[in-house]
Amino acid sequence: MYDIIIVGAGPAGLTAAIYARRANKKVLVLEANTYGGQIINTKSIENYPANPGISGFDFATKLYNQTKDLGAEIKFEKVINISETEVTTTKETYKTKTIILATGADNRKLKLENEEKLTGKGISYCATCDGAFYKNKVVAVQGGGNTAVEDAIYLSDIAETVYLIHRRDSFKAEEILLDQLKEKQNVKILLNTTVTKLNGENKLESIEITNNKETKTLNIDGLFIAIGQVPETENFKKIININEQGYVIANEDCKTNIKNIFVAGDNRTKNLRQLVTATSDGAVAATEAIKYISENKE
Ligand code: NAP
Repeated sequence: MYDIIIVGAGPAGLTAAIYARRANKKVLVLEANTYGGQIINTKSIENYPANPGISGFDFATKLYNQTKDLGAEIKFEKVINISETEVTTTKETYKTKTIILATGADNRKLKLENEEKLTGKGISYCATCDGAFYKNKVVAVQGGGNTAVEDAIYLSDIAETVYLIHRRDSFKAEEILLDQLKEKQNVKILLNTTVTKLNGENKLESIEITNNKETKTLNIDGLFIAIGQVPETENFKKIININEQGYVIANEDCKTNIKNIFVAGDNRTKNLRQLVTATSDGAVAATEAIKYISENKE
């Protein structure tokens, strides 16, 4: 029997594990993919206190090692179901007193034909992972938030030309990034425009783009889709209250509708989804879980 099972080994989940271990709780962290969550794809973290410029990979690895060193058990197994007392993965069922859901979010898809087929063959959701394949080539980024603008800036140093395609007439990215973007001579901005078709059999060859005047074909080597995330909460919605967008409904105390199940990070209803708010949630959720355990001793 575990005291706390944490689903997800991103910044929220691993921080929760650190707090839980420091309270001497028996902790299991379950992760479907690799540790680190979305931050692992960030080239340089500039807005987390005290360590400007650290790469997402280094940050995640330090956090992972810190969690392991404190004695948390971490298993790479995909959770497929939870109840109030059990967590089931594709391999096993584990018993627990409390659960923290820290599953984060996955990349939103354009939902176009060929998107899945051509992923890894010209279509990518991670510029820092795949950008190097496009040295001196022509690429496009779709999106208007911080990720898309950061991706365009990053790719402009690698690719010959970068098209930044956004469906509105202005970006929602931070001013500091937009100022950096303006400096990039090889970034061509296409506003009020969306990608409407992905062409290619074995690899992406071109995309169809549509604005309010016309539809045309753009020959590109790579498309980076950066249109936000969707929370990974599908496997919990049988028992946990989730809103229309799929986020677990909880306040700053990270409590869900079930008294021994807590939520932490980007999969929770909140206004600001950042690394700093994810780690903050991890600390809060673990503290609430520890409190629950001490108040509900058999
Ligand atoms: P985001 O802020 O949600 O932006 C997604 C963008 O994609 C929006 O511009 C949105 O358009 C567009 N979009 C959504 N669905 C679309 C669709 N179906 N077709 C075309 N465009 C679509 O996502 P994000 O940029 O990945 O950022 C996620 C969070 O991480 C944010 O809180 C962000 O601040 C944070 N982040 C921070 C940093 C940093 O601080 N350096 C870096 C990366 C990310 P609309 O504008 O029309 O909504």
